[in-house]
Amino acid sequence: MKALILKNPGEAVIESVPEPKAEDGKILLRVRMIGLCGSDLNSYRGKNPLIQFPRILGHEIAATIVESSRSIPGLEAGVNVTLSPYTSCGKCASCLQGRPNACASNQTLGVQRDGALTEYITVPPEKLYRAASLSLKELCMVEPLTVGFHAAARGRVNTNDIVAVLGCGGVGLGAIAASHFSGARTIAVDVDDAKLEIAKQAGAQHIINTSREPLHDRLQELTGGHGPGVVIEAIGLPQTFRAAVEEVAFSGRVVYIGYAKEPVAYETRLFVQKELDILGSRNALAQDFQRVIQMLEARKFPVEQAVGNIISLEEAPRVLQAWSGNPSKFTKIMVQMDETT
Ligand SMILES: [Zn+2]
Ligand SMILES: [Zn+2]
Repeated sequence: MKALILKNPGEAVIESVPEPKAEDGKILLRVRMIGLCGSDLNSYRGKNPLIQFPRILGHEIAATIVESSRSIPGLEAGVNVTLSPYTSCGKCASCLQGRPNACASNQTLGVQRDGALTEYITVPPEKLYRAASLSLKELCMVEPLTVGFHAAARGRVNTNDIVAVLGCGGVGLGAIAASHFSGARTIAVDVDDAKLEIAKQAGAQHIINTSREPLHDRLQELTGGHGPGVVIEAIGLPQTFRAAVEEVAFSGRVVYIGYAKEPVAYETRLFVQKELDILGSRNALAQDFQRVIQMLEARKFPVEQAVGNIISLEEAPRVLQAWSGNPSKFTKIMVQMDETT
């Protein structure tokens, strides 16, 4: 079967690999559609410290069950599913606390182990989520949205909150949708008008384009001078890491999902003075997958607007190269697998 293999940074090729078998309690899936996100772009560029080469990418997955090595009600052949791309060891401190999303030895599909940009994969049944009313494109959107949903859950976002989300890329968009779905008033912040437009459709009541509007003044204006009670940082730059603690209200909550690539200098006085809850957020839990599916089933997310390009596996090496050369020209890319295989 064909697979897209990242041999080295910048070198993606389509090659033949052996087909997996449904054994050891696993389920054989035919891959139907794969979404690509910023973390795939990072891997392609050799900027993901967790990846080893060669590697098959692909962790945002819509697939159809082909066969199971044992019979599980609801997971019969022909059922469409999406899945959680993470593993957990069951033994580390996070796992013992019931937080396997932050497992110390997590292996994400397409990063620490081979992913789904291929024709068939096998997966343990407990990783699968079925949602009969979702299209393949919608199933593919589940995993990327869970990351933002987990961040909103970490921030205990509820109907009484005003939430500011810094960054409206895939992860930020999930946090906006989650905050809105939880009934909070939501403010989207970015420098890109097109992204802010999608953020609005995902439920942001207010948008701030910081390339032409002062962040502090606008946030104060929108929150009666208090600042937002929750700030979710989904960019990963030192200045936005700092802005989160500077702009959040007294006794507010700050959630970080952006990965800062360099050390960040802080006015730590603000942590104490404002008595902040400062929270990290990583990957997602089963309940985050279920919430995203609920939201997509309720047709509360602008899937059509959020997905930019649907390409074939054959086109993927060329598109990866073009994307890497000019990331801002692309909205979400999805790879549709060859229907004839
Ligand atoms: Zn992703
Ligand atoms: Zn663990």
